Amino acid sequence: MKDTYRHRGMRRKLVAHLRHRGISDERILAAIEVIPRHCFLDSAFEEKAYEDIALPIACHQTISQPYTVAFQTQLIEVQPGDKVLEVGTGSGYQAAVLAAMGAQVYTIERHKQLYAQAKKRLEQLGIKGVYFFYGDGYKGLPQFAPFDKILVTAGAEQIPRQLLKQLKVGGMMVIPVGKNVQEMQRIKRLDKETFKKETFGHFRFVPMLPGSEEDE
Ligand code: SAH
Repeated sequence: MKDTYRHRGMRRKLVAHLRHRGISDERILAAIEVIPRHCFLDSAFEEKAYEDIALPIACHQTISQPYTVAFQTQLIEVQPGDKVLEVGTGSGYQAAVLAAMGAQVYTIERHKQLYAQAKKRLEQLGIKGVYFFYGDGYKGLPQFAPFDKILVTAGAEQIPRQLLKQLKVGGMMVIPVGKNVQEMQRIKRLDKETFKKETFGHFRFVPMLPGSEEDE
């Protein structure tokens, strides 16, 4: 899909809306202004791509609402050069936003189709700095740990212990926790044994499911 003048205009409006809703980190707003969200969706949703809503992608999953993407990205306080693990690649949009902010992104997805599509999509868009993995996000990527930041984009019933272990001391994880509705939590690793939790209101995500698709 092409990125036209009209799409860029719609993105500017979306950014103004997010600023109005309280997203204040200009680096996030700049990333949302450059990443063509319509390219992460089926062409049937092209006209809705810049509305502040979640939309369906393949495998009965969703691309998160732009406000949620911006909110989670703000909580994780991404710095250029940060090594970030994202759980739930989905469309690849959140990974693209993180990469546009200068992060080195390791993203993992349990659906092979979504994994393959997102990888191809980012290659076609020329977005660098994202490494794609097909597998179970509950296990994380111990071979690439530790991570400065971990961002979970599916609702987890409990905080996955394996992921906490893969966090750098001084790092943090942002994760929506809960069954039907999720509480946004941020967990900072203060030292090897000490974690501090903060909470940031309620959101609704698709569930973080155990295992990869092939285990079903
Ligand atoms: N960050 C995505 C949002 C995708 S929705 C985007 O920007 O489009 C959440 C995704 O998490 C879904 O694609 C779902 O398949 C995936 N997911 C759920 N449980 C998972 C697990 N255990 N490991 C990896 N991915 C998982």
